[in-house]
Amino acid sequence: MNQSIFPINFPHSKKLSKYKRLNVSVLDHSVLDKKSRPLNYLRISVLDQCNFRCPHCMPDEIFHKNYIFMKNENLLSFNEIARIVRIFSKLGVQKIRLTGGEPLLRKNIQELIKVLTCIRTPSGKPLDIGLTTNGSLLAQKAFILKKAGLRNITVSLDALDPKIFSKMIGKQKITPQTILNGIEIAKKAGLMPIKINMVVRHSINKTEILSMVKKFRHTGNILRFIEYMDVGNTNNWDLNEVIPTQEIINFIEKKYPLIALNDSNMGRVAKRWKYKDGGGEIGFISSITDAFCSGCTRARLSPDGKLFTCLFSSKGYDLRSDLRNQNLSDEDLANIWSKIWKLRQDNYSEKRNVIRNFSNPDQKIEMSYIGG
Ligand code: SAM
Ligand code: SF4
Ligand code: SF4
Repeated sequence: MNQSIFPINFPHSKKLSKYKRLNVSVLDHSVLDKKSRPLNYLRISVLDQCNFRCPHCMPDEIFHKNYIFMKNENLLSFNEIARIVRIFSKLGVQKIRLTGGEPLLRKNIQELIKVLTCIRTPSGKPLDIGLTTNGSLLAQKAFILKKAGLRNITVSLDALDPKIFSKMIGKQKITPQTILNGIEIAKKAGLMPIKINMVVRHSINKTEILSMVKKFRHTGNILRFIEYMDVGNTNNWDLNEVIPTQEIINFIEKKYPLIALNDSNMGRVAKRWKYKDGGGEIGFISSITDAFCSGCTRARLSPDGKLFTCLFSSKGYDLRSDLRNQNLSDEDLANIWSKIWKLRQDNYSEKRNVIRNFSNPDQKIEMSYIGG
């Protein structure tokens, strides 16, 4: 495999200084988009399949037993993913997140993690490698993942009540206790702090907010509430189902007063808070009521090698064809791919209302395909 180090066209220093003031880790070789946002985070969806059918993500009316998922031969191999990551690390990427679908269903995922841990940024630092999972296989895999070099893990858990949990995950025969066991074992394996993601739906799990807060305070885990988003075309998204972050904060504060943590770190999507009584940290991801596009430094890679510059994109750029073109060196690929980022203008969440009202919304890719 070609591992050449190559020159990239550097962005000019005036633009960089703005982010340095914002405490963004901007390397001299970072590529900036049209809105001067560096590329420093790559989310990699390793599989479009999942063993859950969360109605907000993969409703089972659409993703039923006859649904045709991606064929194995169309998935990027681990070597191909590693080559992409190696090249993107030269363009500024410092953080990687493996996701899906359900990433723990991808066979031997630990082998990919092992390869990724060997990659270094141009300044010689290892990449920050994380994984987001529904937790159903975590108890079996936590120690293997840690041993392979995984740095951090996010577990999705939308309810503690078994009936409500079942509605949130599409009536699979898995209980919240299975996920909680996975979290405990991940903790024992040393994958701390664990982030717990809870998508809040007005008609399904809003009654679980306080139980989740109680469960995860004082545990070292960081619970994060996510506003239900209009990703993809299949979840029948309805604004009435969204509970704005501010309402959730007001509700929690009646029982557990909170303090906002000042956080100027660009690229961080969750607003961080802590409990006044020392119960630990809690976060809020508010794509609907508090768009964070101006600080969005993430690109997303689909299991078949398409690059998306926004979660709400309709088209991806086919990296796999470039990758399988034997005439292109790593240096050629870096130059071609850096141009994709340089042309980026995405800010869907900032203009969601206009887009949803005046254009055809049936154009977005599915969350399970590019991994949230
Ligand atoms: N299967 C894994 C999981 O559930 O953690 C990883 C993939 S999942 C697409 C990544 C994250 O997206 C999860 O935390 C999930 O709750 C979140 N998510 C899925 N659909 C969403 C939606 N419509 N709005 C907000 N978050 C969503
Ligand atoms: Fe699967 Fe995660 Fe989507 Fe739920 S949110 S259906 S667990 S990919
Ligand atoms: Fe980033 Fe697109 Fe989300 Fe805005 S809408 S924060 S550009 S992924």
